[in-house]
Amino acid sequence: MVSLDTNLQRRPEREIMVQEQIVARGIRDSRVLAALRDVPRHRFVPAQYQDAAYDDAPLPIGDGQTISQPYIVAYMTELLELQPADRVLEVGTGSGYQAAVASRLAQEVYTIERVESFDARVREVFHELGYTNIVCRIGDGTRGWPEAAPFEAILVTAAGRRVPQPLVEQLAVGGRLIMPVENDRGRQVIVRMTRTSEEDYAQEHFLAVAFVPLLGAFA
Ligand code: SAM
Repeated sequence: MVSLDTNLQRRPEREIMVQEQIVARGIRDSRVLAALRDVPRHRFVPAQYQDAAYDDAPLPIGDGQTISQPYIVAYMTELLELQPADRVLEVGTGSGYQAAVASRLAQEVYTIERVESFDARVREVFHELGYTNIVCRIGDGTRGWPEAAPFEAILVTAAGRRVPQPLVEQLAVGGRLIMPVENDRGRQVIVRMTRTSEEDYAQEHFLAVAFVPLLGAFA
């Protein structure tokens, strides 16, 4: 279970992170801000980077992968418009930090990672922090999680040329999908797809970003 000590650890640094990196750049959703204040980001980065855990930057987590910059986590979470009863699918567990933030705002988070070595560490951190509403799986996230679908929110934290078709199909009506999508010139922008009916989807384009590539059968 989460200890009081863990919750309080480095809280002042998180408050500065939220004020200077997140609020200062226009994130206003009070639930998102509360989640960022709550989740101890330093527990999700490798030991040698813990002092940099609250810096305004992505950090290496091994295997050429990264934990995203705190602002990008906040930005994508705000765009997801999570509700307490939502079930969320994340593709690209990485450090587990984004899943942890989403888990404070939704009913359940299903998260998939292709790099096996991340799994044990992430499960251990979730357990230590008492985050019991996150389900982890190793596999190809471009296939989604059909047995648990449909999802009210889907978050892809790696960049691809298109939104994988299985994820489009696993989005509930009214659901939102957020993903960095790369255009012909190699520029990535965050795309939000909203399923407006059984057949129809709306698409909006947001911030330019730089994510590691999405790999897999439907990437
Ligand atoms: N959400 C992560 C966090 O909070 O630390 C950051 C994710 S990192 C930017 C992108 C992750 O996507 C990497 O860990 C990478 O291995 C993973 N990835 C890439 N393609 C994938 C796929 N098809 N299925 C599952 N994970 C994938």
